[in-house]
Amino acid sequence: MSNEIPNRLWIHNEWADAESGDTFSTLNPATGEELTRVAAGGEADVDRAVSSARGAFRSAEWRQMDAHRRSELLWRLADLIEENADELATLETRDNGKPYFESRKIDIPTVVQNFRYFAGMADKIHGETIPVSGPFLNYTLREPLGVVGCIVPWNFPLNIASWKVAPALACGNTVVLKPAEQTPLTALRLGELAAEAGFPAGVLNVVPGYGDQAGAALVRHPDVAAIAFTGSTETGRVVLREAAGTVKRVFPELGGKSPNVIFADADLKAAVRGATSGIFYGKGEVCAAGSRILVERSIYDDFLDAMEGRAKKMTVGDPMDSGTRLGAIVSETQLERVLDYIQVGRDEGARLVTGGERREVDGRGFFVEATVFADVEPDMTIAQEEIFGPVAAVLPFDDFDDAVDRANRTIYGLAAGIWTRDVGKAHRLAREIDAGTVWVNTYNRYDPASPFGGYKSSGFGRDLGLRSAMDKYTQEKSVWVALD
Ligand code: ADP
Repeated sequence: MSNEIPNRLWIHNEWADAESGDTFSTLNPATGEELTRVAAGGEADVDRAVSSARGAFRSAEWRQMDAHRRSELLWRLADLIEENADELATLETRDNGKPYFESRKIDIPTVVQNFRYFAGMADKIHGETIPVSGPFLNYTLREPLGVVGCIVPWNFPLNIASWKVAPALACGNTVVLKPAEQTPLTALRLGELAAEAGFPAGVLNVVPGYGDQAGAALVRHPDVAAIAFTGSTETGRVVLREAAGTVKRVFPELGGKSPNVIFADADLKAAVRGATSGIFYGKGEVCAAGSRILVERSIYDDFLDAMEGRAKKMTVGDPMDSGTRLGAIVSETQLERVLDYIQVGRDEGARLVTGGERREVDGRGFFVEATVFADVEPDMTIAQEEIFGPVAAVLPFDDFDDAVDRANRTIYGLAAGIWTRDVGKAHRLAREIDAGTVWVNTYNRYDPASPFGGYKSSGFGRDLGLRSAMDKYTQEKSVWVALD
């Protein structure tokens, strides 16, 4: 197996070893077995990749390439991802532990859709003519930033990479992509497929490695114009601080503790379904996971009964098995973190409704049961900190104002769900909640056309969305011409 797995650095359209010769192990969390050892990029390798990306950015071939051609290349890459979807989905599932049906039916098709959407944007980027005072023609050019460093997490490895790489390339930038050390494989394959699609050498480089080495080197590099980052709020703070040294842009998409607010007048069955998938989809390793479920007191007990039933149906199993709903937690470290939070929930007096235990499949792997805590107080640790695992905190609320207060009582502001049949109430609450995305009577919806990102400590970068992508990955140049 390891011969087929991409496991070296992808720089200048070629495989390379790390200059240090170092490698790190990437495991299959469903078995605990090593999938392969991957070249561990360090400062020298990042420097090589950035210099290749900078060379490509300055080359006539990329700089003067017709936007139509850029668009065609992105479309071709989307086709290649689609053609290789089985392989990519298998790599993703083996590396991350998520059920194969999620990788194959959702993650990879979404990646294809993202590349196609931004392929369509590439030839529609333009400036404006501005009516200034005096005998002058003033117009703006929308120009790419240069080398964009994309640093991505392990929960949706290829999907989140596509959120950044596709619009960055569409706007004419070049990219160095740093995948998470837990899940580097699909990003490496993406580099290879981009070369096959016809992207010139240096336009997309992929440097796997540890965050505090490869990631930090990318953030500090003077020739990197911007960092598009998705990760924890803690790491986001470090990235923002470190990037200040070279005055580069940082687009941070960070953690969340998203409220899913269920009113008594909601379609209860739909709300329970939405609340369950909102927290358990992707094993809860989702930045927008609806991890705080706020339920109006009059339906609280009914809701908990129904949610318990659904949570028990979240079958833990081999991620390659089509009956599996809850895959393996990405790593042993993350497994311990989740189990620690479950213990803290118990210790602080929350009521464990279901789950709460570690599981193994065939005697191995890093699995946790779908876990529901009830009677959670707003200031308990499990209601405040991002667990990034299949652990729901259910809290009752009394009325609309109480719902607003509880929903916003967090440092985060990534997403929120609202369940009610009252249209006016839904829109009123949508305005009151501090969140970059609000889903009404649904949860976890995404589309490349709709911007996604945070309020408050969930960051301020926006991924996806036409206008936000254009603003993010281009800069404006104002040109003045004397007319007399
Ligand atoms: P988690 O804590 O969930 O693993 P992180 O926010 O640490 O998430 O990781 C997200 C991405 O940021 C990963 O690719 C990781 O390697 C990278 N990263 C971690 N630390 C740093 C750092 N100091 N500088 C740049 N990138 C980093």
